[in-house]
Amino acid sequence: MEDWREAKTLEELYEAIKDCTRCELGKGRTHMVFGVGNPEAEIMFVGEAPGYHEDLQGKPFVGPAGQFLDQLLRSIGLSRDQVYIANTLKCRPPDNRDPLPGELERCTPYLFKQIEIISPRLICTLGNHATKTLLRTSVGITQLHGKLIRKDDLVYVPLFHPAAALHKPPLKAVLVEDFQKLGKYLEEERRKWEKAAKEPVRVEVEPEQMGLF
Ligand code: SF4
Repeated sequence: MEDWREAKTLEELYEAIKDCTRCELGKGRTHMVFGVGNPEAEIMFVGEAPGYHEDLQGKPFVGPAGQFLDQLLRSIGLSRDQVYIANTLKCRPPDNRDPLPGELERCTPYLFKQIEIISPRLICTLGNHATKTLLRTSVGITQLHGKLIRKDDLVYVPLFHPAAALHKPPLKAVLVEDFQKLGKYLEEERRKWEKAAKEPVRVEVEPEQMGLF
């Protein structure tokens, strides 16, 4: 496929961008970390960028933070193969530095294409960087965590990053609590979608069309 924007599936998108060097990070990576999980997931989690282990394995959220995320998912009756996990950047910044604005500008269109293909009910931004990048806000995660935010036809729930929570016990307790809210938001969104699916489709007929058949 010539143009990744035309991808209809995650596989097509991956094939179209797997050799990307749109920013400098493409030169230093071991693996591009495209994202993993269910292509029809109801919830999508978006972290900041691949770290050392993610770069080596080509998968997001491996190691202790990933194990904690699995534990949090189980607490609301979900497993990793039911959700989709990606990052704002697909290649690891050197020494795990923060993503640069130019890198985000080049890489996040891929993420939004993934969101378009998966069409999740909820998008959980993990940590400050992912939250500020996706919501295009300067308001930090401390104020936004656990809230349901509708923006550009998408529904977001910012959460503290599991890696940060592992190092700060008070944050861990907040994240555990926010996951319970997330479970409730998911139920509400499911009900809304089910109700919308049951509603009859209204077709407006122009008076002059009435006698055509
Ligand atoms: S970080 Fe994104 S834009 Fe930069 S090289 Fe990797 S895939 Fe391409």
